[in-house]
This record gives sequence, C-alpha cells and structure tokens, in this order.
Amino acid sequence: MVSNRRRRLALATALALVAIAGGILWGIFRSTPPKSSVVLITIDTLRADRVGAYGAASPETPVLDRLAREGMLFEAAYATTPLTLPSHVSMLSGRLPPGHTVRTNDGYEVPPELPFVPEMLKVAGYESGAFVGAVVLRASTGVSRGFGHFDDDIGPAGERSGEEVVQRALAWLRQRDENPFFLWVHLYDPHLDYDPPEPFRSRYPGDPYAGEVAYADYCVGLLIAELESAGLMDEAAIIVAADHGEGLGEHGERSHGAMLYESVTHVPLIVRLPGASHPGTRIRQPVSITAIAPTILDMARVSYSGMPDSLLSHLGGSPPAPETPVVSETLYLKQLLDWSPLYSLRVGNLKLIEAPRMELYDLATDPGETVNLAESHAEQTRALLRVLHDSLEESAVSGFEPVKARQDAETAQRLAALGYISGGARTSSPVEPVGGVDIKDRIALWVRIEEGLELSNSGSRARAAEVFRGVLDEDPENLLALKFLGAKALEDGDLQKAVSFNERVLESGLHAVDVLSNLSLAYHRLGRSADALACAELAVERSPEHIPARFNKALIQWETGRGQEALAELEELLALAPAHAEALALKELVIGGRAGTAILDRAQELAQSGNLDGARREVEKALALDPSDPRVHDLSGILLAQMGDQRAARRAFERASELAPRDPEILERLAASLHQLGERQAARAKFEEVLAIDAGRRGPHLSLGILDLEENQPDRAIERLQGLTGGWPGAPLANFYLGEARRMSGDIEGARRSYQASLALAPADHPIREEAGRRLAALRRP
Ligand SMILES: [Zn+2]
Repeated sequence: MVSNRRRRLALATALALVAIAGGILWGIFRSTPPKSSVVLITIDTLRADRVGAYGAASPETPVLDRLAREGMLFEAAYATTPLTLPSHVSMLSGRLPPGHTVRTNDGYEVPPELPFVPEMLKVAGYESGAFVGAVVLRASTGVSRGFGHFDDDIGPAGERSGEEVVQRALAWLRQRDENPFFLWVHLYDPHLDYDPPEPFRSRYPGDPYAGEVAYADYCVGLLIAELESAGLMDEAAIIVAADHGEGLGEHGERSHGAMLYESVTHVPLIVRLPGASHPGTRIRQPVSITAIAPTILDMARVSYSGMPDSLLSHLGGSPPAPETPVVSETLYLKQLLDWSPLYSLRVGNLKLIEAPRMELYDLATDPGETVNLAESHAEQTRALLRVLHDSLEESAVSGFEPVKARQDAETAQRLAALGYISGGARTSSPVEPVGGVDIKDRIALWVRIEEGLELSNSGSRARAAEVFRGVLDEDPENLLALKFLGAKALEDGDLQKAVSFNERVLESGLHAVDVLSNLSLAYHRLGRSADALACAELAVERSPEHIPARFNKALIQWETGRGQEALAELEELLALAPAHAEALALKELVIGGRAGTAILDRAQELAQSGNLDGARREVEKALALDPSDPRVHDLSGILLAQMGDQRAARRAFERASELAPRDPEILERLAASLHQLGERQAARAKFEEVLAIDAGRRGPHLSLGILDLEENQPDRAIERLQGLTGGWPGAPLANFYLGEARRMSGDIEGARRSYQASLALAPADHPIREEAGRRLAALRRP
C-alpha cells in the first residue's frame, strides 16, 4: 500500500513538473476524475421480483441481469410513491413528494424553483436528451425542465412502444456533440394494458405482464448495443430503475397507486459504472429512488445540497453509509375519493404502513406482508411512526409552493385513454393526515371502480354505468361513481339526474372542472341560466385552459343575451385552440346575429349538392350549439339514413321525436327508419301514431300497406292502398305495391293494370320503373 502510494506521488510530482514546464496545469486536471456521461433508463411498472437478477425465474431479463453482474444492484430499493410522475420527479430532484410538491399524476406541475438534475447538468455543460413512453410524463408537467431535447411526441393513444422510444433516443445519441451527455429513456410497456408484441406474447402464454417485462428488457438491450458499438460503455454510467411496481392481484390490488405493499413500492435499481468498475456489487441496505439524483450529480462532479446520500456512498472503500429511513406515500385515493392517504417506512427488515388501521411487517420472515404485527408490537410501531413523521416533516421543509397544473381537454382525454383519472388536486397541506376510509377495507370496491373506468374508457359507457350504480349502492357517497353517473345522465339527456349527481359531487368539496362544466350544461338545458352561468364561470376560473368549460361559458353567455361577453370569451378560447369548429361557428353566430337556422340551411344546401360529409359537419356544429333543437337531430337522421347508417339515423330521429313528440314528419321518419331496420311492430305503432296526429297523411298509409304485404296480408294491403293511387308523389309506389298485393291474391289482370298505372305515373328517373317493367314482362309470359 505504502509503496504504491509513494510511487503514485512520485509520478504525480514528475507529471506536475512536466505540466508546469509546458505551461499547463495538467496535474490538476489529472487529479480530478473526468465527468461521466449518464444514461438513466426508467422502466414503468416493473416489480423488482420480476427481474432475473432479483431472483425471478420468469420472465427472462438477460440485459438487466448483465448490467447487474457488471455493476451495483440495490436489493431493497423503494419508489417514493406508486405513481409515475411524482416518482420520476423524485428521481430527478432527490426529494420525496412532500418536498418536490408533485403528489399525483395530474393536478400538479414541477415547481420552477425546485433544483432539478437536468437543469443542474445543463449548467455544468452537459448535452441532454429525454425520450418518454407515455403522455403522463409530457413536457408540460415541467419534467422537461433543463433537457436540451425532450421528446414526448406521442399520439392520441397516450403511449408508444419501447422500440419507438429507443429508436428516437439512438438517433439523438448518434447526432450529439462530444460533450458529456445525460440521456433519459422511459419505457412504458409493462404498464396496463398488457399487450406484448411477438415473440414475447407467445413466450409467456397466460402472463402478458411477463411478456411486457421481457420486451422492455429487449428494448434496453437495443440501447446497450448502440452504446457498446459507439464505445461509450467506458465513459457512461447506466442507471436502471422503475418508478413503481404492480399489484398483480396481491393484497387485492390489480395495478398500482392505491396501496404501499412491496408489490408496488419495491423496485429494481441497478447502477453500472463506466467501464464496469465494481462489478457484482450487491447492496442489501434499503435505499430510496431519491438517491438517483445525487448519484447522477456525483458522476457529473456537480455539487448539491438538500439531497440524500449518493448511491456511490455504498461502494466498498468509503465508510459505509449510515442507514436512513426509506419513506413512501400515496395520496392517489385521497385526491380521487377523499379516502385516507397512506405512508410507509422501511428500516432494516421492518416495514410500517401508516393507515387508519396501522400495519407492521417483518420482511425477513414475512416478505408477503401477511402477518400484521402492529398490535402485538405496539411500542415498536409507535417508535417507527415517530421516525416516519419526522422524516415526512423534514422532507416537506422545502418552501416550494405546489404549482397547480393547467389542464386542457385533449390532455385529459389522452390521460383517460391510459386509464388515468382526472381528479383535480384536493390536497392542501404537505403532509395530509391519515384518517377516514382505509383502502384495505375497500379494495374489492376499488377494483370494481377501476373496472368501471376501464369500461368507460373503452367506450362501453352503458356497462360502466351499471358498474357504477353497483358501486353507489355499496358506497352512496362515492365521488367517482357520482361523477361518472352525472356525466352519463347528461349524455342521456336525463337533466334532473345530471344535476343531482353533479351537485352531490360539488357538495363533497371536489370542485373538479369537468363536474362544474357538466353541471352548468345541465342547468342551462333546464333553463336555469343564472346557475348555469355561475357554474361555467367557476369552471373557467379554476381551469382557464379547459376548452369545453370555456365553450359552455360562451354559449350560455350568448344565449342569455350577453353577446359581447360571449365574444370576449370566444376570443380567449380561440387563442388556445384556433381550429375549434364549434367556437368558430358560435363566433359567426354572435357576430352575424343569425340563428342556428343559418347552419341548418347551409347543411341542407350541402346535402342537396351531394356533399353529405360537409352537411354532417354543419349539423355537428349546430348540435354543439343547441343540442335541444329537434330540427337538428331530424336533419342529422336524414343525412345518416342517406349515408346508410340506419341505426344511427334511428337514434337521431328518436332524439328529435323526444324533443318534439307531436311533430308528424319526424315521427314518420322515425317509423320509416324502424321499418328499414326490420322492426315491423314498432314501425307499425309509430305509423299509426302519425295518423292519430294527422289522419290526412298518405305516406303512413302507404307504409302500413307495405307492412301488410310483408306480413302476407294482401287483402288488407289492397284495402289500404286503393285510395292512394293518384294525385300525390307517392302514387307510382302505391300502384306498384297494389299490383304486388293483387298478384299475391291471384288477381293477375288487376295486378297488370296496377303495374301499368305505376309506369304511367312514374317520372323517367323513378327507381320503381325498372321493377314494375320486370313484373309486367313476367306476367306476359305464358
Ligand atoms: Zn408508472
């Protein structure tokens, strides 16, 4: 040892002399290790115990296993929360959620003054790029701050495949300059829905989650292969982590977010140092993913404060890092349902979960967390609880104000497509007290709520409504059920119910913008203009970028005679969404002072010129402006019928008829569409209803005659059709069907006369001519 050090000293002296002689302080540069590049790979929803290096038999994860063999593996690493955005913000800031203030996936943005690793690296001259797999990590959350290049170019599905993410990252890697770089790659694949591509699907039949994990490992392999061929494995540190795990049914939890058991908080954490120094190092001491931030900064030789010990402090040679309490939290159900938040603490082998019913587990003997020791070890539980509270309070002393997220409807829709539920932030204090509903007592109900949301997101709104009615039976104040059923009632035109459900949500204190917006629409359609306007104003005030709320507000202002205010509101909306068709149409109306009739006239003109799509678009505009106008639904039905969508046409006529129940023309079109769809009984009843309103109409008689024929009643048909054979546009058809009836009843001569009359009356381009001619020819044959 001594002689080694002496040799090194001698060498350094010699080198320094050379450097000074050359006018360069080469020795000083030599004594500071070079800055490393860093590649951070986060694999969403990856449980530690599904990785080979952590002992999993399946799936196979050869790439992660290799990185672990060549680097450091942290056996007991913990997510700070089982939620994607706040967990990633912890990795990039080194703070627990109460410290960085982003508590859930929506509702918060990264505070601009929060010290953030990508920004600190930028100051240190790093070139940086980020490539995320899902919209939950979109740039507008603030997670992009400091990155030179942030790629969140993700379509309406809200996610993209690992291969696409990696390919884009590789393209960036190839074109970057020579600087040290920081690359963050986020692979979303193991998240629900589990839909692995081949061959990973077939490799894990019946376990698509395993297939997704194996696929993510393969994607990491693509990235590693490129780093290797570019000769970067000696220069770059590679950190692999997960933001949280997945319940997979353990403790009743299917996915993640609601609970804090090992299934969702225990995550893989692997650090491969440049040149694979310290291979095969396994660290048993529990650590938090907050330690990733200082590790990256250590690799970049950037100093920091207010962060935990770096993961490098666990390397042999340095004094062993003192054990620090590892804390996790979830406020997910607090935000969504006003159920209790949860906090957890891992110290040594013990794990405490602070819930309304406290939990304590000894993970050494009970890794599945099945034997709750909280009561039998009450004193230990109390002591750990004090440690937990101290840690939480300490973490919250950041002084950063939470930043409420702006949310536009498009983002909400893309988040919903991933199964994320918009709740609107309800938390006010950094450490929300535990109390109220304990998720472990309601986990079955929560799983049903998740099912309902999934049905709703996949378009099965009626089945979702069934699920939520069941939820409400069991839990009459359930906010998500009330919210969903309120929105559904509005869709169905059940305005009283829509008001009642949405009012109950607001009474609970949850002022989500979509609830306010829906309530305002329901009030408006019920003629309660003042209430409608007040709700719309509150919605816009709370969420100025929520486009539907702004549109509702403008619409209500216009319809209540406040044209100027409506115009101002529309200008603000169009500044946010310049192509918003309904807003443009409404602006036209407000300026031109024209009624919805103008749009309908235009739609009719377009339809007559054969432009059915154009006509449909006009009708959509008119529907958005006034969904209670029966004429609009009627015209919509006519267009749909012409376009061949009889089912949609029937629904449109039904809606029109509900809004104008005594309009014989609408009723007749509804009856005809039922007839088209083969619903003879219902069609007959509707045709008779038309005649009860207006007995002089001949169309329903003709249709009823045709129905008689279809039901093999030619005599009844003859009786009905005889009076319709002249003096109206339907006469060629009436004569033709009279011919059919006569032929069926054996009166061949009469049939011939009727077909001839049909031909004589029908104009040259009448579609019945061909058929009538064919019938006559057939009758002439012997
Ligand atoms: Zn996640």
